[in-house]
Amino acid sequence: MESEQSSIFSMQIELLDKVLAASSDHIYISDRHLRYIYASPAGLAALGLQPAELLGKTWQELGFPPDIMELYDEDCQSVFQTGISITGETSFPTVHGIRYYEYVIAPIWGDDGEIIAVINTSRDISDRKQVEDALRLLNQELEARLIKTTQELAALNQSLRLEIAQRQQRQNAFYDGLTGLPNRALFMEYLTQALQQAKRHKDNLFAVLFLDLDRFKIINDSLGHIKGDQFLITIAQILQACIPSTDIVARLGGDEFTILLTEIKDVSDAIKVAERIQQELKLPLKLDKQEVFTSASIGIALSSTLDYDQPEQLLRDADTAMYRAKALGKSRYALFNADMYASALFRLQLEVDLRRAIERQEFQVYYQPIVSLITGSIIGFEALLRWQHPQRGLLSPVDFIPLAEETGLIVEIGYWTLFEACRQMQAWLMKYPHYSLEKMSVNLSAKQFCQPNLIEQIRHILHSTGLKPYNLALEITETVIVENGDEAIAILLKLRELGVEISIDDFGTGYSSLGRLYSFPISVLKIDRSFVNPMTTDNRNLDIIEIIVTLADKLGIRAIAEGVERPEQLAILRKLNCQSVQGYFFSEPLDSSHTAALITANPQWS
Ligand code: C2E
Ligand code: CA
Ligand code: CA
Repeated sequence: MESEQSSIFSMQIELLDKVLAASSDHIYISDRHLRYIYASPAGLAALGLQPAELLGKTWQELGFPPDIMELYDEDCQSVFQTGISITGETSFPTVHGIRYYEYVIAPIWGDDGEIIAVINTSRDISDRKQVEDALRLLNQELEARLIKTTQELAALNQSLRLEIAQRQQRQNAFYDGLTGLPNRALFMEYLTQALQQAKRHKDNLFAVLFLDLDRFKIINDSLGHIKGDQFLITIAQILQACIPSTDIVARLGGDEFTILLTEIKDVSDAIKVAERIQQELKLPLKLDKQEVFTSASIGIALSSTLDYDQPEQLLRDADTAMYRAKALGKSRYALFNADMYASALFRLQLEVDLRRAIERQEFQVYYQPIVSLITGSIIGFEALLRWQHPQRGLLSPVDFIPLAEETGLIVEIGYWTLFEACRQMQAWLMKYPHYSLEKMSVNLSAKQFCQPNLIEQIRHILHSTGLKPYNLALEITETVIVENGDEAIAILLKLRELGVEISIDDFGTGYSSLGRLYSFPISVLKIDRSFVNPMTTDNRNLDIIEIIVTLADKLGIRAIAEGVERPEQLAILRKLNCQSVQGYFFSEPLDSSHTAALITANPQWS
């Protein structure tokens, strides 16, 4: 029985030995003193030792590398103490060079529950390690590359951003923010190039179109700015579609666009484009669901019209032609020509002269008497401005007042006139106290009327000249009052407060609402010459005069008929009960010395 048992046991040992020998793992068993008491064949082979060389020896005796083995020592001690297995990784110099191992150190328990030995199972993981190392290296390299690429990308990003910023700057400097079209600066560049090219090749013809929308302000005011912007963008698209893709559309600002047509044979090509644009703009534009109608006035300047040097000159001439188109009734085109050039030049010269006229004191006030039909005497004068032009002689206000108005020079000129008329009137009142002079009438232009310091200026003039406010009447046209609405009434009230009389000039030609006339603080209606002059031949005008005289009467104010030239007209005005008159029949406007003579002559029209 016992021998059967021992033979089973030795069979088991033999089997175990075979199993361990077959294992590729390296198995070492060490006793309490860390002497090797077993090594599997693979383990021995790795160390290049025979069993006899190893067994019973410590690693120190075997000369194993201490830096590796000290850790092994620690692990084994720990297993002996705690009975808990330890796993780890290590490298070891074998006969095949340094190999890497994954190991487990586990306790071997004796029958009495004591740990009698430890078993170290090491598995060669060099191949895996190699792959891992290679992977780590690769990883490191990839990481390094990634860092480098990231840095490169950041640098690229930076330079891209810089370029975008530069482009943006260029975009802002040369393109219109709303429509994306070239702006004035870029358009001028293109124009400069076109001009240089035309200078080099004599038969190179080009045209500049200047386009202004006719009703943009109304659209903008009624639909709001957002729709207004949308509208401009749509117009920009239409314009671009109307010209060859090689040509340029630019937005100068507001509702002004310019076009440069480079590939034209003659003027008809430019006209065709202008006509096409007008045709396109005639169609209703859709803004969201709203339909909007528009039209444009177009000025065309041709590079061959004048010997152009500067691009600005071409733009200016296209602009001039555009104004002509507008003046001719809008929604049309006009071609700039030499006549227009002459008249533009003339205007420019006039403006220069006009500025100089103020300094050189070339203005003069003429006076036209206003006669009372009740007393038959002169009761006052209308001050009418004249300009003693150094070359062109005495100029009528119709020749320069509109330009003075447009350029704003009227404010200064008007102030001078008012001062001079007041000074003169006061001088006559002092000199001729026994005549029936009552009022000096002075015309006030629209710009003057809207001057914020108008009241102060008048007060100052009255104060400096000594003229009493009730000796001054200001003539304002109906249109000025109508166009300035409630603001006009406020100004009129202040003037009345000052004690100055207000006449409505050219009455009947404007569109004042008769209903509102009651609320105007006015004293005189001046019946426009156009009703008086053809009076004898036209019954309708006669009716109008009668109505105005009656109206004045009802309002408790006076009526003055202007432009009386013939005795028949005077007779009719008397019959209509018009109190005051003015016109060539009595006297033309006279300079101050002739007026003084007229005063002393004291003519009577009874
Ligand atoms: P207005 O205020 O209607 O002045 C009357 C114009 O009719 C004057 O022309 C006068 O000479 C003219 N006139 C007077 N009687 C007759 C007549 O019997 N027949 C005809 N055909 N005409 C007559 P004038 O002096 O050429 O002034 C023209 C316009 O210029 C004035 O029209 C006025 O609107 C403006 N104006 C004149 N002086 C001034 C001024 O100092 N300031 C401003 N703002 N405008 C002025
Ligand atoms: Ca007048
Ligand atoms: Ca008048």
